[in-house]
Amino acid sequence: MGDWFQTIVDTEATPGEAEGLAANILDWLIADGFVSAERTDCVLGADAGHAPGAGYGEAVEEPDPGLAGVWSNGLHVTVGRTVFDAGQGEPSAVTCPHCAVQMPLVDERWSPIEEAWALFADAVGSWADGDDEPVACPSCGRAAPVHTWLWADEYFAFGHLGFTFWNWPTLRPEFVADFSRRLGGHRTVLLAGKL
Ligand SMILES: [Zn+2]
Repeated sequence: MGDWFQTIVDTEATPGEAEGLAANILDWLIADGFVSAERTDCVLGADAGHAPGAGYGEAVEEPDPGLAGVWSNGLHVTVGRTVFDAGQGEPSAVTCPHCAVQMPLVDERWSPIEEAWALFADAVGSWADGDDEPVACPSCGRAAPVHTWLWADEYFAFGHLGFTFWNWPTLRPEFVADFSRRLGGHRTVLLAGKL
């Protein structure tokens, strides 16, 4: 049994505003009872998070009565430059932001195409450290920073602010849209994956 997660990433928040936006969103989630105010040991990959609140069912398509009994059932807020990914699996393709040519990254058996992935691996790996390494498009020859390429399957999202819900049922689209509105209309990406 793996752990499933959904992460809402704000791809437009600047490093300077991420912390304030995170606090605003948390205030709303706590006030409306989606999560509890207390920080407890209820998330993976971090010290503490916020467990589901009494009103968490309003955030999801189908509330799961068993969620309360799952240890990893909390919300973790990530502030800081991060490459968010969908966990298991591979991105299937990536599209050049200049010429819109799509490059497959896996073959028909869903195995990674090493020579295609090699063009991106360093840039993806170093983005969180502050690098904006350009990747040259094999099709048009123009270079673009790795975070501006369009990743299929919502596999990667590059940003400074993310909200990860551990083992929650599918989030309602209205709930996700509320994030974008409360983040000042910033573009958000919803990643879903398994660890
Ligand atoms: Zn191109």
